[in-house]
Amino acid sequence: MSPDARPPSPAAVQHFIRAIIEDDLHSGKHTRISTRFPPEPNGYLHIGHAKSICLNFGLALDYSGQCNLRFDDTNPEKESEEYANAIQEDVRWLGFQWDGEVRWASDYFQQLYDYAEMLIQQGKAFVCDLTAEETRETRGTLTEPGRDSPYRNRSVAENLDLFRRMKAGEFPDGARTLRARIDMASPNINLRDPVIYRIKRAHHMRTGDAWCIYPMYDYTHCISDALEGITHSLCTLEFEDHRPLYDWVLDNLPVPCHPRQIEFSRLELRYTVTSKRKLLQLVSKGLLAGWDDPRMPTIHGMRRRGYTPAGIREFARRIGISKSENVIDLAVLEACMREDLENTAPRVMAVLKPLKVVLGNYQEGLTRSRTAGFHPNHPEFGEREVPIGREIWIEQDDFALEPPPGWQRLTLGGEVRLRYAYVIRCDEVVRDGDGQVVELRCSIDHDTLGRNPQGRKVQGVIHWLSAAHAVTAEVRLYDRLFTDPVPDGHKDRDFLDFINPDSLQVVQAWVEPAAVRARPEEHYQFERLGYFCTDRFDHVPGSRPVFNRTVSLKDTWSR
Ligand code: ATP
Ligand code: MG
Repeated sequence: MSPDARPPSPAAVQHFIRAIIEDDLHSGKHTRISTRFPPEPNGYLHIGHAKSICLNFGLALDYSGQCNLRFDDTNPEKESEEYANAIQEDVRWLGFQWDGEVRWASDYFQQLYDYAEMLIQQGKAFVCDLTAEETRETRGTLTEPGRDSPYRNRSVAENLDLFRRMKAGEFPDGARTLRARIDMASPNINLRDPVIYRIKRAHHMRTGDAWCIYPMYDYTHCISDALEGITHSLCTLEFEDHRPLYDWVLDNLPVPCHPRQIEFSRLELRYTVTSKRKLLQLVSKGLLAGWDDPRMPTIHGMRRRGYTPAGIREFARRIGISKSENVIDLAVLEACMREDLENTAPRVMAVLKPLKVVLGNYQEGLTRSRTAGFHPNHPEFGEREVPIGREIWIEQDDFALEPPPGWQRLTLGGEVRLRYAYVIRCDEVVRDGDGQVVELRCSIDHDTLGRNPQGRKVQGVIHWLSAAHAVTAEVRLYDRLFTDPVPDGHKDRDFLDFINPDSLQVVQAWVEPAAVRARPEEHYQFERLGYFCTDRFDHVPGSRPVFNRTVSLKDTWSR
């Protein structure tokens, strides 16, 4: 745990896994707990993984135990160093640190192989010559038992010989498998003589070409947990039916301990997809800028958009842990970001859609700049000068020729206060040939600096910038990535059909000069507009700033 990355842990929400752990600590079953986060390095992590990270690392912190980071690297063709590095970066960025070195399932390849020979010796595994197709056909269904493989009763000696020759590379890919010898009539399909080793000539990022046989996930995972002394092996509900196999493998081998597998429900976020395979499609088809596109629900994407580690941890806490469906509205995630940024982001003014205003009675020297704090509740954030000039920018939306009832912003003949400065009145509207309002002529009430105007009330306050002082910035406005709440929930439609064509809008905006000095990944509130963050990669201090909109100030989704 990096000391500065994590604020005092927020009040933990009680859930069934905590109850199990507390029982185990009370009864003395365990004196110290060990958990692990076991990603496959076949893509970047997403918000669902963040839930699992916060759970596993959070429990270790709360109960003074340990949490390992272990890569499940048993599928060499889909895995890469790039993914493994990004995953480590994400875990640390979220504020967590794994125990000791990073672990890899591949560290255990030799041990896993030796254990497989032991299973063979006990008559509990056999080499099978059925093709993948034949294996599938004889597996049976939920209502019908499977059929025994004709190779099921090979002698131990023959099995050992064939398995060693599989390892030595004597057979082509897919020609043979090693299968656990359990029960083809089991009501649980996972126990119907599952394949535990396959032949695959694939270069492995860590073991190179040392192996041409690779262990399957179900066989590898439980043994890796046991070798690391994991006490509570937490995974998502789709592994519930695999638990009997997890236990079978450990019951039949001389492993150092027998961890307990506990399942909880996956997080599903509306208007997005949480599957590395689907996210990979968005990237490989070039539909987004990459895994770290700010519209991606990846941790890299969320980070680049300006989401904060504290906000994500709070989100994980709020959504809870249970076995029931965990479908969450985007609004919950956004609310967590707003709450975190409200007290951490300095506030400045920016204008996204500028309308020119000329202040007719502006008087150099008399009309003064104003000092304004960067945060109303945090004087320690400091202050800056907000300059004023004859020409200012205001937001187009803050002026209406025909205002709706209750309008508190600017209109012809109406008054409004410029944030931190004077009350102005709109005296004249300049339109172009198409009737579009292109400029306002306004006048300053010089007596309104820091006090109310005489004899009338002006309620509206708008943000603005001095045109002579403001700097241009590129601002990227993001909308939800999909137009459907469950894009991958349609039988007859591909999730890619629901991509929102307007999920990104780039505008040339104006910001206060203070923003030019911003470093990458700095958060700001643009007053009245939302929270924005300088882009992690494209923003270069000293040149034209590049901002990403993290989240608007108000919830616009759950209307
Ligand atoms: P994906 O389908 O996106 O590839 P995965 O489960 O195959 O996800 P892994 O790398 O195997 O990805 O997952 C590492 C850990 O994260 C596992 O323990 C897994 O259960 C957990 N996890 C993955 N997705 C979610 C999710 N949506 N909600 C909660 N936990 C998740
Ligand atoms: Mg997986």
